[in-house]
Amino acid sequence: MKPADALAHLAEEIRSCHRCPLARLRTHAVPGEGPVDAEIMLIGEAPGYHEDKQGRPFVGPSGRLLEKLLAQIHLSRADVYITNVIKCRPPANRDPMPAEIEACRPWLHQQIELIDPLVIITLGRFSMAQFFPPGTRITRVHGHVLQQDDRAIVPMFHPAAALRNPNWMQDMETDFAQIPGLLEKIRAQRAARAHANAGPEQLSLFSSNLDELKDTRKSH
Ligand code: URA
Repeated sequence: MKPADALAHLAEEIRSCHRCPLARLRTHAVPGEGPVDAEIMLIGEAPGYHEDKQGRPFVGPSGRLLEKLLAQIHLSRADVYITNVIKCRPPANRDPMPAEIEACRPWLHQQIELIDPLVIITLGRFSMAQFFPPGTRITRVHGHVLQQDDRAIVPMFHPAAALRNPNWMQDMETDFAQIPGLLEKIRAQRAARAHANAGPEQLSLFSSNLDELKDTRKSH
C-alpha cells in the first residue's frame, strides 16, 4: 500500500474506533490532517467543540494562531501534519484521562511511523508528556530540542495558553522561529545517514550516474 493510502486507511480506522468511552460521546473522531510526507508534525491535546463537529483538527482560534505562526516561518497548514494526542473530544473539554491517552496511543504512534516527520512540535503538556519524562515542566523546557535518532522533538506551549498569556505568545513566536534552522540540520543528518548506509552497489550506481551526468554535460 502507498504511504498516502496507508495514512487514509489509518484515518478510517480511527474514525470508527471504540477503544474508549469517548467514542460514544463524539460527533466525529478527529484523526488529523496533512500530507504523508510532511516534514513537521504538530501534536495538540484533544479535539474541542468545533473540531468534534467538523472532524478536523485545530479549526478554532488556536488553529488560526498556528496558521499565523506557520506563516511567520513561510509555511502553511497544508505543509504540515496536524493531529492530537487523543482523537475524540472529552466532555466539556476536560483534560484527557490517562486511560483515554493510553487507548489512543497506538494511533498516534502509527501516524508518527507512517509520516516519519523530521520535527515533531508538541503543543501543551499532555502532548509533551508523550515524549518527555514525568515531572518535566513546559515553562522550563519549551523551545528546547530533544533529539531522538534523526528526529527533533520540540515542546511548545499550547496555542490556547499563548492566546491567554502575551509572554507565552512571545515565547511561542521565538520557539517557532528556530524551526527552519532545525529542519535544515535534520535534513543534513538524514542525508548523511542515507549516504553512510548506502551499500557499495548503491554507491557505484551513484558514481556511474555522476559519470553519465558529466558525460551529458560534456556533450552540450
Ligand atoms: N486544541 C487542541 O489541542 N486540539 C485541537 O484540535 C483543537 C484545539
